[in-house]
Amino acid sequence: MRAADIQQDLAKILVTEEQIIAKLDELAARVADDYAGKDLVLVGVLKGAVMVMADFARALPMHAPMDWMAVSSYGASTKSSGVVQIRKDLDTDLHGKHVLIVEDIIDSGLTLSWLLENFESRGAESIEVLALLRKPEAAKVVIDCKYVGFDIPTDFVVGYGLDYAERYRNLRDVAVLAPHVYS
Ligand code: 5GP
Ligand code: MG
Ligand code: MG
Repeated sequence: MRAADIQQDLAKILVTEEQIIAKLDELAARVADDYAGKDLVLVGVLKGAVMVMADFARALPMHAPMDWMAVSSYGASTKSSGVVQIRKDLDTDLHGKHVLIVEDIIDSGLTLSWLLENFESRGAESIEVLALLRKPEAAKVVIDCKYVGFDIPTDFVVGYGLDYAERYRNLRDVAVLAPHVYS
């Protein structure tokens, strides 16, 4: 598939790579301030948060071990059901650690609300959330997300780690997927 063919699948570019990097730099400066002298661990949620983690972690001027969790939420491919299953658990013992969950997007909030509850039972000293994107109008549960990159409309988006059927994760920008691709 050629680059031009991929472009045809996108309705519009919503957030550019440049805007993302600038925002992650800004969030990293805040996080570095907030966690100075603390035992921070970054927990990325696979696979969507891979790009966010890569750029955010490199912008952080402090030690920040990374761990990864893979969860799957059942339901149609463009909707989340809130029924979550752990596919890969953490390698890290969270006891006494300051945990920052790194997420690609908060849509309904159901996945994160489940994750937060799950993490609270692991003895972490604190748990906060960083999400590159958030869809305020799609919220089914309210997530207390301390670090938010961009609030966006409810359209289904791809790129910068976000997929549709495992495609488009490798796009540099975040774009609205053209409805003809999934309807
Ligand atoms: P939530 O549980 O908040 O509804 O969303 C859980 C997961 O669904 C997100 O972490 C993300 O992986 C996926 N998701 C939600 N909205 C979108 C979207 O607009 N595009 C893509 N590609 N994935 C999404
Ligand atoms: Mg995710
Ligand atoms: Mg996905």
